[in-house]
Amino acid sequence: MSADRIFNFSAGPSILPLPVLCEAAAEMSNYKGSGMSVMEMSHRGKAYAAIFDETKADLKRVMNVPDTHEILFVQGGATLQFSAVPLNLIGKTGKADYALTGNFSTLAMKEAKRYGEINIACSSEDKNHTYIPQEADINPSQDASYFHYCANNTVYGTEWKYIPKTAGVPLVCDMSSNIMSEPIDISKFGLIYAGAQKNMGPAGAAVVIIDKQLAGAYEHPLTPKLMSYKTMIDTDSMYNTPPCYTIYIIGLVLKWVEKQGGVEAMAKLKAERAKYIYDVLDDSKMFAGCADKSARSGMNVTFKTASEELDAKFIKEAKAAGFDTLKGHRAVGGMRASIYNAMPVEGAMELAAFMRRFEAENRA
Ligand SMILES: *Cc1c(COP(=O)(O)O)cnc(C)c1O
Repeated sequence: MSADRIFNFSAGPSILPLPVLCEAAAEMSNYKGSGMSVMEMSHRGKAYAAIFDETKADLKRVMNVPDTHEILFVQGGATLQFSAVPLNLIGKTGKADYALTGNFSTLAMKEAKRYGEINIACSSEDKNHTYIPQEADINPSQDASYFHYCANNTVYGTEWKYIPKTAGVPLVCDMSSNIMSEPIDISKFGLIYAGAQKNMGPAGAAVVIIDKQLAGAYEHPLTPKLMSYKTMIDTDSMYNTPPCYTIYIIGLVLKWVEKQGGVEAMAKLKAERAKYIYDVLDDSKMFAGCADKSARSGMNVTFKTASEELDAKFIKEAKAAGFDTLKGHRAVGGMRASIYNAMPVEGAMELAAFMRRFEAENRA
């Protein structure tokens, strides 16, 4: 890591690969001889069309997206998808299943309730979302239009280790905080969405990967044009001006991911980073992980000491040592280390060493 960079453990917007930032900087005022920045060019022009098409093709290749599915770049973050999903899909039966395993899946469910009847297929709320329900404990309804879950719970630090089976009901997944962190079989999903600012790029765009058969079929007549998957497919995400610069950076991130060895390499690095920190939690008499061991996230590690004062001291001293944004979400407290794709393994390794040092120095 370059001398003026810190280790940024922010949950989102979050760390980006340094080579991506350097390339963007080098191209800032004159993109490939165009005499202008990517920010300044028409989204309908030749130069931008090439960026857009290449980014989409790279995402298709990196995530192994089958031809049955379409990739969309949309605005409004993951949160607008909490509304777009029911508006586009719940019309089939008027009902949908939601798995409640954290902050964002609960928000998604509450929003969907405005548009139809919601069945809570499973919930981890009884233990403050510290675990992921077993597959046997999920109660799907037969007539749901879709089944929604959130694959990685950014706030609580839990991650689904399996893809729920839904007996033909389309699976809809919020992958905002673990997309591209491991290979996945896209054909199992009716729809995947993810805000860009965790594992893909800066804020300002969400990626939607949708089974084309689902688009348009059950759309609510009052669905805003910009939230219609059918419209977005028909216009190749350009019904209006897309988030051009964010898409360009996503493109650079994709090239970086491929250079590292693709999602297989991302999965290996994910496991390596997580092991450094979870090993400390397992050895420690001071720090305890918040999530059940069986559900530990490889992207967001949540942990605490026995006292809020000690948590605050840790966060303050960690910041001074170059480990930033470790304060946990208010719903959980304590600390959260977000270790997304762009976090170098040495960041997790050095944080782990810092935690061990802190414990030795502050032992009661
Ligand atoms: C951050 C996050 C969201 C919200 O994303 P926005 O882009 O801010 O709307 C939703 N779901 C998950 C899992 C997240 O991590």
